[in-house]
Amino acid sequence: MGRVTASLADLPLRDDLRGLTPYGAPQAPLPIALNVNENTHPVPDAVASDILDDIAVALRDVNRYPDREFTTLRESFAEYLGHGLVAEQIWAGNGSNEVLQHILQAFGGPGRTAFSFAPTYSMYPLIAKGTGATWIAGTRQPDYSLTPDDAAAQVEDADPDVILLCAPNNPTGTPLSLDVIEAVYEVSRGVVVVDEAYQEFAPHDAPSALTLLDGRPRLAISRTMSKAFAFAGARVGYLAADPALIDALRLVRLPYHLSALTQAAAIAALRNADVMLGMVEEIVEQRDRISATLEALGYTPHESWSNFVLFGGVSDPASVWQQLYDRGVLIRDVGIPGHLRVTAGTEAETTAFLDALASIGSAS
Ligand SMILES: *Cc1c(COP(=O)(O)O)cnc(C)c1O
Repeated sequence: MGRVTASLADLPLRDDLRGLTPYGAPQAPLPIALNVNENTHPVPDAVASDILDDIAVALRDVNRYPDREFTTLRESFAEYLGHGLVAEQIWAGNGSNEVLQHILQAFGGPGRTAFSFAPTYSMYPLIAKGTGATWIAGTRQPDYSLTPDDAAAQVEDADPDVILLCAPNNPTGTPLSLDVIEAVYEVSRGVVVVDEAYQEFAPHDAPSALTLLDGRPRLAISRTMSKAFAFAGARVGYLAADPALIDALRLVRLPYHLSALTQAAAIAALRNADVMLGMVEEIVEQRDRISATLEALGYTPHESWSNFVLFGGVSDPASVWQQLYDRGVLIRDVGIPGHLRVTAGTEAETTAFLDALASIGSAS
Protein backbone atom coordinates (compact mmCIF):
# COMPACT_ATOMS: atom_id res chain seq x y z
CA MET A 1 0.00 0.00 0.00
CA GLY A 2 1.18 3.47 -0.85
CA ARG A 3 4.15 2.15 -2.84
CA VAL A 4 4.89 4.02 -6.07
CA THR A 5 4.66 1.47 -8.86
CA ALA A 6 4.39 3.60 -11.98
CA SER A 7 5.33 7.04 -13.21
CA LEU A 8 2.85 9.37 -14.88
CA ALA A 9 4.50 8.66 -18.23
CA ASP A 10 3.46 4.99 -17.92
CA LEU A 11 -0.24 5.80 -17.53
CA PRO A 12 -2.73 6.28 -20.38
CA LEU A 13 -3.04 10.01 -19.65
CA ARG A 14 -4.70 12.31 -22.21
CA ASP A 15 -2.01 13.52 -24.62
CA ASP A 16 -3.03 17.14 -24.09
CA LEU A 17 -2.36 16.83 -20.33
CA ARG A 18 1.16 15.40 -20.71
CA GLY A 19 3.84 17.77 -19.45
CA LEU A 20 1.43 20.08 -17.59
CA THR A 21 2.22 21.09 -14.00
CA PRO A 22 -0.57 21.18 -11.40
CA TYR A 23 -1.33 24.39 -9.47
CA GLY A 24 1.20 24.39 -6.68
CA ALA A 25 1.51 27.48 -4.51
CA PRO A 26 3.72 26.23 -1.65
CA GLN A 27 1.72 25.46 1.53
CA ALA A 28 4.43 25.77 4.17
CA PRO A 29 3.62 26.06 7.89
CA LEU A 30 5.36 29.41 8.34
CA PRO A 31 4.20 31.92 10.99
CA ILE A 32 3.64 34.69 8.41
CA ALA A 33 1.83 33.34 5.33
CA LEU A 34 1.24 36.12 2.79
CA ASN A 35 1.42 34.07 -0.41
CA VAL A 36 -2.09 33.22 -1.65
CA ASN A 37 -4.04 36.45 -1.06
CA GLU A 38 -6.19 35.11 1.74
CA ASN A 39 -7.79 37.44 4.27
CA THR A 40 -5.43 36.65 7.14
CA HIS A 41 -7.84 37.92 9.80
CA PRO A 42 -9.63 35.00 11.48
CA VAL A 43 -13.44 34.67 11.32
CA PRO A 44 -14.76 36.67 14.32
CA ASP A 45 -15.99 34.46 17.21
CA ALA A 46 -19.59 35.71 17.18
CA VAL A 47 -19.90 35.01 13.45
CA ALA A 48 -18.22 31.62 13.81
CA SER A 49 -20.80 30.50 16.39
CA ASP A 50 -23.66 31.84 14.28
CA ILE A 51 -22.37 29.85 11.28
CA LEU A 52 -21.87 26.80 13.49
CA ASP A 53 -25.50 26.93 14.67
CA ASP A 54 -26.70 26.76 11.07
CA ILE A 55 -24.28 23.99 10.18
CA ALA A 56 -25.56 22.01 13.19
CA VAL A 57 -29.12 22.29 11.89
CA ALA A 58 -28.10 21.29 8.36
CA LEU A 59 -26.14 18.34 9.71
CA ARG A 60 -29.31 16.68 11.00
CA ASP A 61 -30.55 16.40 7.42
CA VAL A 62 -27.39 15.21 5.67
CA ASN A 63 -28.99 11.82 5.13
CA ARG A 64 -30.77 13.64 2.27
CA TYR A 65 -29.18 15.30 -0.77
CA PRO A 66 -28.95 19.08 -0.49
CA ASP A 67 -31.07 21.59 -2.47
CA ARG A 68 -29.61 21.05 -5.93
CA GLU A 69 -30.55 24.60 -6.92
CA PHE A 70 -29.18 26.14 -3.68
CA THR A 71 -32.05 28.61 -3.87
CA THR A 72 -31.61 30.33 -0.52
CA LEU A 73 -27.90 30.79 -1.15
CA ARG A 74 -28.58 32.28 -4.57
CA GLU A 75 -31.08 34.68 -3.04
CA SER A 76 -28.45 35.66 -0.46
CA PHE A 77 -25.84 36.34 -3.15
CA ALA A 78 -28.34 38.37 -5.22
CA GLU A 79 -29.09 40.49 -2.17
CA TYR A 80 -25.41 40.91 -1.33
CA LEU A 81 -24.49 41.96 -4.89
CA GLY A 82 -27.39 44.42 -5.24
CA HIS A 83 -27.64 46.06 -8.70
CA GLY A 84 -31.22 44.75 -8.88
CA LEU A 85 -30.02 41.17 -9.38
CA VAL A 86 -32.35 38.23 -8.69
CA ALA A 87 -31.62 34.61 -7.77
CA GLU A 88 -32.14 33.38 -11.37
CA GLN A 89 -29.07 35.41 -12.37
CA ILE A 90 -26.80 33.78 -9.79
CA TRP A 91 -24.67 30.65 -9.94
CA ALA A 92 -22.27 29.27 -7.30
CA GLY A 93 -19.67 26.57 -6.85
CA ASN A 94 -16.99 25.22 -4.55
CA GLY A 95 -14.79 28.25 -5.07
CA SER A 96 -14.88 30.53 -8.09
CA ASN A 97 -12.38 28.15 -9.68
CA GLU A 98 -15.20 25.62 -9.95
CA VAL A 99 -17.52 28.29 -11.34
CA LEU A 100 -14.90 29.13 -13.99
CA GLN A 101 -14.54 25.43 -14.71
CA HIS A 102 -18.29 25.20 -15.30
CA ILE A 103 -18.01 28.09 -17.79
CA LEU A 104 -15.14 26.43 -19.62
CA GLN A 105 -16.89 23.05 -19.64
CA ALA A 106 -19.99 24.62 -21.14
CA PHE A 107 -18.41 27.12 -23.54
CA GLY A 108 -14.81 25.86 -23.95
CA GLY A 109 -13.78 22.23 -24.38
CA PRO A 110 -12.13 20.39 -27.27
CA GLY A 111 -11.79 22.31 -30.51
CA ARG A 112 -12.46 25.62 -28.76
CA THR A 113 -10.27 28.42 -27.45
CA ALA A 114 -10.00 30.42 -24.24
CA PHE A 115 -8.20 33.77 -24.07
CA SER A 116 -6.79 36.15 -21.49
CA PHE A 117 -4.16 38.88 -21.23
CA ALA A 118 -0.91 37.66 -19.64
CA PRO A 119 0.37 37.88 -16.99
CA THR A 120 -2.87 36.91 -15.27
CA TYR A 121 -4.33 34.31 -12.91
CA SER A 122 -2.34 31.10 -13.33
CA MET A 123 -5.41 28.88 -13.00
CA TYR A 124 -7.06 30.18 -16.20
CA PRO A 125 -4.88 28.16 -18.61
CA LEU A 126 -5.01 25.11 -16.34
CA ILE A 127 -8.81 25.14 -16.10
CA ALA A 128 -9.13 25.79 -19.84
CA LYS A 129 -6.74 23.00 -20.79
CA GLY A 130 -8.42 20.66 -18.31
CA THR A 131 -11.59 20.93 -20.41
CA GLY A 132 -9.59 20.32 -23.60
CA ALA A 133 -9.74 23.93 -24.80
CA THR A 134 -6.74 25.61 -26.41
CA TRP A 135 -5.24 28.48 -24.43
CA ILE A 136 -4.40 31.80 -26.08
CA ALA A 137 -2.46 34.48 -24.18
CA GLY A 138 -2.73 38.11 -25.23
CA THR A 139 -0.40 40.87 -24.05
CA ARG A 140 -0.61 43.93 -21.78
CA GLN A 141 1.00 47.37 -21.76
CA PRO A 142 4.40 47.53 -19.98
CA ASP A 143 2.60 48.67 -16.78
CA TYR A 144 0.19 45.68 -17.13
CA SER A 145 -2.79 47.91 -17.97
CA LEU A 146 -5.07 47.38 -20.97
CA THR A 147 -6.46 49.96 -23.37
CA PRO A 148 -9.87 49.46 -24.99
CA ASP A 149 -8.49 49.65 -28.56
CA ASP A 150 -5.57 47.31 -28.06
CA ALA A 151 -7.58 44.80 -26.01
CA ALA A 152 -10.39 44.76 -28.57
CA ALA A 153 -7.94 44.35 -31.47
CA GLN A 154 -6.28 41.37 -29.79
CA VAL A 155 -9.63 39.72 -29.03
CA GLU A 156 -10.91 40.33 -32.55
CA ASP A 157 -7.76 38.74 -33.91
CA ALA A 158 -7.92 35.67 -31.63
CA ASP A 159 -11.71 35.27 -31.98
CA PRO A 160 -11.92 33.13 -28.78
CA ASP A 161 -14.88 31.14 -27.45
CA VAL A 162 -14.22 32.25 -23.85
CA ILE A 163 -12.49 35.46 -22.71
CA LEU A 164 -11.32 35.84 -19.13
CA LEU A 165 -10.77 39.37 -17.83
CA CYS A 166 -9.36 39.58 -14.31
CA ALA A 167 -10.45 42.85 -12.65
CA PRO A 168 -8.40 43.88 -10.75
CA ASN A 169 -5.79 41.59 -12.25
CA ASN A 170 -3.95 38.88 -10.31
CA PRO A 171 -0.93 38.76 -9.93
CA THR A 172 -0.35 42.41 -10.84
CA GLY A 173 -3.17 44.19 -8.92
CA THR A 174 -3.92 46.31 -12.01
CA PRO A 175 -7.40 47.88 -12.24
CA LEU A 176 -9.46 47.27 -15.39
CA SER A 177 -11.74 50.01 -16.64
CA LEU A 178 -15.26 49.25 -17.81
CA ASP A 179 -14.37 50.70 -21.26
CA VAL A 180 -12.09 47.72 -21.87
CA ILE A 181 -14.82 45.24 -20.96
CA GLU A 182 -17.34 47.02 -23.20
CA ALA A 183 -14.87 47.15 -26.10
CA VAL A 184 -13.95 43.47 -25.76
CA TYR A 185 -17.61 42.44 -25.54
CA GLU A 186 -18.42 44.49 -28.63
CA VAL A 187 -15.88 42.76 -30.90
CA SER A 188 -16.31 39.22 -29.52
CA ARG A 189 -18.75 36.39 -30.10
CA GLY A 190 -17.59 34.27 -27.10
CA VAL A 191 -18.51 34.36 -23.43
CA VAL A 192 -16.80 37.24 -21.61
CA VAL A 193 -16.03 36.49 -17.96
CA VAL A 194 -14.99 39.31 -15.66
CA ASP A 195 -13.31 37.79 -12.60
CA GLU A 196 -13.92 40.24 -9.74
CA ALA A 197 -12.28 38.10 -7.04
CA TYR A 198 -10.80 41.24 -5.45
CA GLN A 199 -13.56 43.78 -6.16
CA GLU A 200 -14.21 44.50 -2.46
CA PHE A 201 -10.66 45.92 -2.14
CA ALA A 202 -11.13 48.43 -5.00
CA PRO A 203 -11.98 52.07 -4.27
CA HIS A 204 -15.63 52.39 -3.19
CA ASP A 205 -16.54 54.56 -6.17
CA ALA A 206 -15.05 52.09 -8.70
CA PRO A 207 -18.00 50.61 -10.61
CA SER A 208 -18.33 46.84 -10.87
CA ALA A 209 -18.83 45.09 -14.21
CA LEU A 210 -22.22 44.13 -12.73
CA THR A 211 -23.36 47.52 -14.05
CA LEU A 212 -22.78 46.20 -17.61
CA LEU A 213 -24.90 43.03 -17.31
CA ASP A 214 -28.12 44.49 -18.71
CA GLY A 215 -28.42 43.67 -22.40
CA ARG A 216 -25.21 41.61 -22.51
CA PRO A 217 -26.24 37.92 -22.43
CA ARG A 218 -22.68 36.67 -23.06
CA LEU A 219 -21.25 38.52 -20.04
CA ALA A 220 -20.60 36.80 -16.68
CA ILE A 221 -19.14 38.35 -13.53
CA SER A 222 -17.51 35.94 -11.08
CA ARG A 223 -16.81 36.64 -7.43
CA THR A 224 -15.48 34.64 -4.50
CA MET A 225 -15.86 34.44 -0.73
CA SER A 226 -12.18 33.39 -0.52
CA LYS A 227 -10.59 36.84 -0.36
CA ALA A 228 -12.36 39.82 1.24
CA PHE A 229 -14.92 37.52 2.90
CA ALA A 230 -12.29 35.56 4.90
CA PHE A 231 -13.88 32.27 3.80
CA ALA A 232 -11.19 30.62 1.63
CA GLY A 233 -11.33 27.32 3.50
CA ALA A 234 -15.09 26.98 3.01
CA ARG A 235 -14.68 26.98 -0.82
CA VAL A 236 -17.48 29.23 -2.07
CA GLY A 237 -17.42 31.21 -5.32
CA TYR A 238 -20.28 32.62 -7.36
CA LEU A 239 -21.24 34.34 -10.56
CA ALA A 240 -23.86 36.70 -11.96
CA ALA A 241 -25.08 36.44 -15.56
CA ASP A 242 -28.15 36.17 -17.75
CA PRO A 243 -30.43 33.28 -16.63
CA ALA A 244 -29.87 31.56 -20.02
CA LEU A 245 -26.11 31.46 -19.46
CA ILE A 246 -26.75 29.96 -16.03
CA ASP A 247 -28.93 27.28 -17.61
CA ALA A 248 -25.88 26.29 -19.68
CA LEU A 249 -23.88 25.75 -16.49
CA ARG A 250 -26.53 23.32 -15.19
CA LEU A 251 -25.60 21.01 -18.08
CA VAL A 252 -22.07 20.49 -16.78
CA ARG A 253 -22.24 20.74 -13.00
CA LEU A 254 -22.34 17.53 -10.99
CA PRO A 255 -25.70 17.04 -9.27
CA TYR A 256 -25.77 18.41 -5.71
CA HIS A 257 -22.30 19.95 -6.18
CA LEU A 258 -22.76 22.35 -3.25
CA SER A 259 -23.01 20.35 -0.03
CA ALA A 260 -25.70 21.14 2.52
CA LEU A 261 -22.97 22.14 4.97
CA THR A 262 -21.37 24.52 2.46
CA GLN A 263 -24.73 26.10 1.68
CA ALA A 264 -25.56 26.53 5.36
CA ALA A 265 -22.15 28.03 6.12
CA ALA A 266 -22.23 30.45 3.18
CA ILE A 267 -25.79 31.63 3.91
CA ALA A 268 -24.88 32.31 7.53
CA ALA A 269 -21.66 34.08 6.54
CA LEU A 270 -23.57 36.29 4.08
CA ARG A 271 -26.06 37.15 6.82
CA ASN A 272 -23.00 38.46 8.70
CA ALA A 273 -21.50 40.19 5.65
CA ASP A 274 -20.89 43.48 7.49
CA VAL A 275 -18.74 41.82 10.13
CA MET A 276 -17.07 39.41 7.70
CA LEU A 277 -16.04 42.34 5.50
CA GLY A 278 -15.13 44.49 8.51
CA MET A 279 -11.40 44.04 7.97
CA VAL A 280 -11.35 45.17 4.34
CA GLU A 281 -10.51 48.81 5.16
CA GLU A 282 -7.71 47.72 7.47
CA ILE A 283 -6.30 45.40 4.77
CA VAL A 284 -6.40 48.21 2.19
CA GLU A 285 -4.48 50.39 4.66
CA GLN A 286 -1.82 47.71 5.03
CA ARG A 287 -1.65 47.27 1.24
CA ASP A 288 -0.96 50.97 0.83
CA ARG A 289 1.61 50.87 3.62
CA ILE A 290 3.36 47.98 1.83
CA SER A 291 3.47 49.98 -1.42
CA ALA A 292 4.83 53.11 0.31
CA THR A 293 7.46 51.19 2.27
CA LEU A 294 8.57 49.14 -0.73
CA GLU A 295 9.07 52.35 -2.64
CA ALA A 296 11.15 53.77 0.20
CA LEU A 297 13.27 50.61 0.10
CA GLY A 298 13.92 51.21 -3.60
CA TYR A 299 11.55 48.61 -5.05
CA THR A 300 8.89 49.41 -7.66
CA PRO A 301 5.43 48.43 -6.40
CA HIS A 302 2.71 48.32 -9.06
CA GLU A 303 -0.61 50.08 -8.55
CA SER A 304 -2.97 47.65 -6.79
CA TRP A 305 -6.74 47.62 -6.31
CA SER A 306 -6.54 44.25 -4.59
CA ASN A 307 -5.24 42.89 -1.27
CA PHE A 308 -1.72 42.23 -2.58
CA VAL A 309 1.17 44.12 -4.10
CA LEU A 310 3.38 43.02 -6.99
CA PHE A 311 6.76 44.70 -6.79
CA GLY A 312 9.67 44.91 -9.20
CA GLY A 313 13.30 45.87 -8.75
CA VAL A 314 14.10 42.48 -7.19
CA SER A 315 17.42 41.46 -8.74
CA ASP A 316 17.16 37.83 -7.59
CA PRO A 317 13.53 36.92 -6.74
CA ALA A 318 14.33 33.29 -5.84
CA SER A 319 17.01 34.40 -3.37
CA VAL A 320 14.88 37.12 -1.74
CA TRP A 321 11.94 34.66 -1.54
CA GLN A 322 14.21 32.12 0.20
CA GLN A 323 15.69 34.70 2.60
CA LEU A 324 12.17 35.76 3.61
CA TYR A 325 11.21 32.09 3.97
CA ASP A 326 14.19 31.57 6.29
CA ARG A 327 12.86 34.49 8.38
CA GLY A 328 9.44 32.81 8.65
CA VAL A 329 7.71 34.90 5.98
CA LEU A 330 6.05 33.20 3.00
CA ILE A 331 5.33 35.35 -0.07
CA ARG A 332 4.94 34.42 -3.75
CA ASP A 333 7.30 34.19 -6.67
CA VAL A 334 4.79 34.41 -9.53
CA GLY A 335 7.42 33.85 -12.21
CA ILE A 336 7.58 37.44 -13.48
CA PRO A 337 11.30 38.26 -13.86
CA GLY A 338 12.54 40.72 -11.23
CA HIS A 339 9.26 40.61 -9.28
CA LEU A 340 7.65 39.15 -6.17
CA ARG A 341 4.07 39.37 -4.85
CA VAL A 342 2.99 39.82 -1.24
CA THR A 343 -0.47 39.72 0.34
CA ALA A 344 -1.46 42.49 2.76
CA GLY A 345 -1.88 40.79 6.14
CA THR A 346 -2.78 42.06 9.58
CA GLU A 347 -0.78 45.07 10.74
CA ALA A 348 1.58 42.76 12.70
CA GLU A 349 2.07 40.36 9.77
CA THR A 350 2.67 43.25 7.39
CA THR A 351 5.23 44.72 9.76
CA ALA A 352 6.95 41.33 10.02
CA PHE A 353 7.21 41.14 6.23
CA LEU A 354 8.46 44.71 5.82
CA ASP A 355 11.03 44.31 8.63
CA ALA A 356 12.24 41.00 7.20
CA LEU A 357 12.58 42.52 3.73
CA ALA A 358 14.43 45.56 5.09
CA SER A 359 16.81 43.27 6.97
CA ILE A 360 17.74 41.59 3.69
CA GLY A 361 18.80 44.94 2.27
CA SER A 362 17.44 47.42 -0.23
CA ALA A 363 16.54 46.84 -3.84
CA SER A 364 19.43 46.80 -6.24
C1 LIG B 1 -8.09 33.78 -5.50
C2 LIG B 1 -8.68 33.95 -6.84
C3 LIG B 1 -9.88 33.34 -7.16
C4 LIG B 1 -10.65 32.61 -6.11
O1 LIG B 1 -10.59 31.27 -6.18
P1 LIG B 1 -11.57 30.43 -5.25
O2 LIG B 1 -11.66 29.16 -6.01
O3 LIG B 1 -12.86 31.16 -5.16
O4 LIG B 1 -10.89 30.31 -3.93
C5 LIG B 1 -10.43 33.56 -8.40
N1 LIG B 1 -9.82 34.35 -9.29
C6 LIG B 1 -8.67 34.97 -9.01
C7 LIG B 1 -8.07 35.87 -10.00
C8 LIG B 1 -8.07 34.78 -7.77
O5 LIG B 1 -6.92 35.40 -7.50
